[in-house]
Amino acid sequence: MIQENIKAVQKNIEDACTRVSRPKEEVTLIAVSKTKPLEMLKEAYAAGCRDFGENKVQELADKYEAMPKDVRWHMIGHLQRNKVKYLVGKVCLIHSVDSVRLAEEISKEAMKKGVSVNILVEVNVAEEESKFGTTCAETADLVKKIASLPGIFVKGLMTIAPYVEKSEENRQHFVNLRKLSVDIKKQNIDNVSMDILSMGMSGDYLVAIEEGATYVRVGTGIFGERTYSIG
Ligand SMILES: *Cc1c(COP(=O)(O)O)cnc(C)c1O
Repeated sequence: MIQENIKAVQKNIEDACTRVSRPKEEVTLIAVSKTKPLEMLKEAYAAGCRDFGENKVQELADKYEAMPKDVRWHMIGHLQRNKVKYLVGKVCLIHSVDSVRLAEEISKEAMKKGVSVNILVEVNVAEEESKFGTTCAETADLVKKIASLPGIFVKGLMTIAPYVEKSEENRQHFVNLRKLSVDIKKQNIDNVSMDILSMGMSGDYLVAIEEGATYVRVGTGIFGERTYSIG
């Protein structure tokens, strides 16, 4: 089942890329495996998935130990500063950085371990009350402050769009995130690349790709409904 789902999602991704004349290599599928058991991750791995997304540090660390070492782990959930030390050195990208204080902790841990850490700045592009992330207006300033810290590279932006019935409703949010990343790229800030746009989930990843997503984060569309949902 998982294998078929992945094939179907990959096909949808390719079709969306074709629609807007983007090479399919520009888009990477992250299999969001939060709450799902190891057997399901192994099935996805066997089907070719190498990028996995988790939103809890402990769960990511446990799965990291149990899965093959060529998996690229993505931290996509809200991150507490006291958990940063368990993450640095294991993840390939932290998608959810939204404060200087959190970035300082990541920087400190990166220096301690002698590594550099790639991060995305999370933007609450729809300005929803319930969501983490910086506002569009504050993003450039936050990117600058974070990029000045040692051991951190800002690779782009991430957003979690609102839950909507029709994916079309989120198109403008994706357009706005893209514009914001283009504006910031133009500023040529040291240690900032803006090559990555992490946007789009099971309900809206095709619209996100049409508007420039380079990472889509798909959970339900690969592994089925979660028995409990986490933020
Ligand atoms: C859970 C989650 C996803 C995946 O959501 P689905 O709707 O199941 O595809 C993507 N991104 C983030 C940040 C998540 O927490």
